[in-house]
This record gives sequence, structure tokens and C-alpha cells, in this order.
Amino acid sequence: MRTLLSSKVTAWGPIQLKWEVTRKCNLHCIHCIVAADSNQKQEVPPDRIQDCIDRISELRPLRVLISGGEPLLYQGLFEVVQGLTDNGIEVNLETNGITVNRSIAIRLRRKGCKHVRVSLHGRSSLTHDALVARNGAWKHAIKTVKLLVNEGIDTSISFALARFNIGEFPKVLKLAESLGVNSVFVNNLVPIGRAYQNWDHLSPTMSQLARFRRFIGNEHCRYLRSKGRLVLDFDVIKSLRSFVGCCVCACVISPAGEVRIADVFPIVVGNLLKEEPMAIWKRINQTWADPFIAEFIRKELRNILDLHKIKDLQDHYKVAQYALV
Ligand code: SF4
Repeated sequence: MRTLLSSKVTAWGPIQLKWEVTRKCNLHCIHCIVAADSNQKQEVPPDRIQDCIDRISELRPLRVLISGGEPLLYQGLFEVVQGLTDNGIEVNLETNGITVNRSIAIRLRRKGCKHVRVSLHGRSSLTHDALVARNGAWKHAIKTVKLLVNEGIDTSISFALARFNIGEFPKVLKLAESLGVNSVFVNNLVPIGRAYQNWDHLSPTMSQLARFRRFIGNEHCRYLRSKGRLVLDFDVIKSLRSFVGCCVCACVISPAGEVRIADVFPIVVGNLLKEEPMAIWKRINQTWADPFIAEFIRKELRNILDLHKIKDLQDHYKVAQYALV
């Protein structure tokens, strides 16, 4: 089984690679899986930026999603964007929108940033600010979306489904359309990091989810989904099951260079700053093909709360620190 699946390891690299350039953040969202905040110090060492770009480029990803923490707090951000685009890699960025002003929007466009995703978790500050734990954050996010759209940057919104905002999703969708964004991404919360600590307060109820599913089944949502303008990524367990034994197309790199096979299933398989990139990429594929992992995912992960059981894999694999709280 292992030999057969290993033989499928891709000769090419990931389609999408997510690169966290810093763990520092100017928000303290209660659903944050990596537990980012203003006290976090971890970031890509400035003198290793070019080395990281070269190593990432060796993997030949189609696109890199620059993430964090809040990537706009990272001093070397524009060097990163420029370096990746110079190497022919599409650069996308995700931000909470707190620090974006017109000059930053212009710089992002000029450096070749192809797409920016802004977190917007409510139709008003009431819900958004509660989730991100900062008054005024919603207004910043709205202003940022407008600035980016005005600058002609392909812009999307990212909406995290929580118990206290799921009911307003139809209005958020309308708001997004009125702001002129190209797409809306909907993510389910996962019980990792701070989200685990706040899970009882955060997780949507079954009846809320049923109503939400009915809504996204309507004609307009079906149309948006068919055009890729509404992207739903909330059946996490189903997605993980689909990765088992497959040639995967993504990975995540921490500011310290640690490479994880997935955000929500954060097994660490190597360090980009210390090892050959292609050797790590092969290891990622081999990990997904490992019958032990396949069995764990199939048997132990029955519902989303079971994701917390990833702690149980520690005797066999290194698990990212943020999943061990
Ligand atoms: S979810 Fe994003 S914006 Fe919120 S604390 Fe975490 S990194 Fe920052």
C-alpha cells in the first residue's frame, strides 16, 4: 500500500503554498487557530527572506498565499511579494484589513500582488468586532475592501462561520456584492488553538447549520458557486478524508520554516530553512499516503471536534505547537 501510494508522489510541487511570514497580529480573534497576537515574536528572519523565496520557488508552486499573523505587520512583506512575483509565482495575500491605507494598496498592486482576501465576519461591527476582539475592526475591514477594489486589485472576503454570525451570512453576501468584491470564502471554524478554548461559545448549532445549508442551496448561491464567486470550505473532515492517499496540492510554512501538511491537520514534516525543499514535499505526500494517518483520519475523526485528537499522534509525528493547547 505504502509503495503504491508513494509512487504517486508528484514530480511537481504544490498548487498553493501558504506562507506565514509572521505570527504577530494586531487582533486577538477568539477563533484564531495559530493563536496569533501582538506578543508573538516569530517571523521570517529578514536575512533569510531571499533564501526562503529561492527555496519556495524550487517547489514551483502556482501561487503563494502570504499569511500570518497579520502579514502587513511584517517589515519584509514587499520584498517577499516582489521576490515571488519576479520568480513567476502568483502572489495572494490575506489580511484583517486593520493597517491598509491607500499607499499600501498602491504598493501591493505595483509589486504584483494578484489577489487580496480580507476577513469580514459580519454585516456590522456588532458581530465582526466581537469575533476579532477589537472595536472598530469592522470599519477598517470595510474601508480596506473599498480601497483595494478602487485600486483595481482582485479582492475577496473571508467569512468564518460562528454561532453568533452565521445567521447574518445572507446579509454579508449582499454587502460583499455591493462592495464589488470578486468572491466570498466561507470557512468553518476548527477546534484548534484559541478556537478550541472558545469552542462552546463559537460552534454553530445543528439547526443553524441546516438553515445555512438551505440558504446556500438557493438559486443565486448556486449560480455564485458555479462561477467560483462563493467558495465553501466548511466540511473539513470530508476534505481531510479526500486527501488520504492522494497527490496533495498544498502545504503551509510557518515563519520559522516549519512545513505542515495542512492548517487544520498540522503535522510538521520538515523545515524549509534546513532541508531540501523537494525532500520535504515528498515527505508531505508520503505522510498523506501513510496507512497509519489514513486509519486515524477514517476512524478517529468522526466530527469536527475530533480534530483536537491530533494531539494523540505525537508519538508518531511532530504536531505543531499551536494544536497542543
Ligand atoms: S485569525 Fe487572523 S487576524 Fe485574527 S488573530 Fe489570528 S492571524 Fe490575526
